[in-house]
Amino acid sequence: MTGSSTLVRAGIDLGGTGTRIIITGKGGVINSITLATAEFCRVDQNERAKLLAFHVRALIPQGMELVSLGIGASGPVDTVSGIIKNKDTLECFSFFSLADELKEILGVDVAIDNDAVAAVLGEYHFGAGKNSKRLLMVTLGTGIGVALLNEGIPFRTSDNQHPEAGHIPISGNPAICYCGLRGCWEMLASRSWLQQNLEALLPQTPFEKQDLRFYQTMVTEREEVAALFHRYGNYLGRGLVTLLTLYGPDLTILSGSAAHYYPLFKNGLNESLMRADAYAINNRIVPSELGDIAGALGATVIPELN
Ligand SMILES: [Zn+2]
Repeated sequence: MTGSSTLVRAGIDLGGTGTRIIITGKGGVINSITLATAEFCRVDQNERAKLLAFHVRALIPQGMELVSLGIGASGPVDTVSGIIKNKDTLECFSFFSLADELKEILGVDVAIDNDAVAAVLGEYHFGAGKNSKRLLMVTLGTGIGVALLNEGIPFRTSDNQHPEAGHIPISGNPAICYCGLRGCWEMLASRSWLQQNLEALLPQTPFEKQDLRFYQTMVTEREEVAALFHRYGNYLGRGLVTLLTLYGPDLTILSGSAAHYYPLFKNGLNESLMRADAYAINNRIVPSELGDIAGALGATVIPELN
């Protein structure tokens, strides 16, 4: 018989660019790897689950036994059927029974959820969100990902979907979003917006090659860079205040690559959240503790939700 110290869980963060697989045991992370998602798209659809299972197994040390696999996938996911429905950025893992196939191959419980849900579960169980009763997480990347946990359980719509709260209209931009609405929050407050506008101001400095220190210096030297970060904070706050008002979380975690610059847009953000005392809400905001690894770590917990 196998002792509980040899039991391991697998988590996968399935993104359009990278696929991170992590194995955890009683003492924490045992093994992990990040692969290019394109590697899976090159093989036939009926081989993709097998290839994923192969990589999972390869990370499990001899003598240890897998008990479950959880997957956080970008875009819409049918959590009941375990089918990903992301034709835009994860097409090669979409529209087939990935969870059922993996269950069959690995012989363990397999569950799939949205990657924002996986990340908030990661912070709740292992990171900055421990002991939060109602935890909101906002991820600032190509778009804006939002997830909410109530006592550790993900908030879902009445038809069991993950609400795409990056697509709530805010004032300031009437342009049409790819989702069909006008002036979506993520059009003005994603990392993409910040990056485009910073690169327009500083054409010689590619955004992904700079760090917080670089922009800290630029903010003190150039007023228009300071003003840009301030405006970004304002836009971020306009959508965030809607979520804080509706859901009243006790903690909000900011993650994603733009969250590294929180000290530079904090004042702009707080300005948008300010209100009269009688309407005051909990504005406690902290940066992510786990960073990129939150999604894969949180994915290990997904099978326990169902
Ligand atoms: Zn939209």
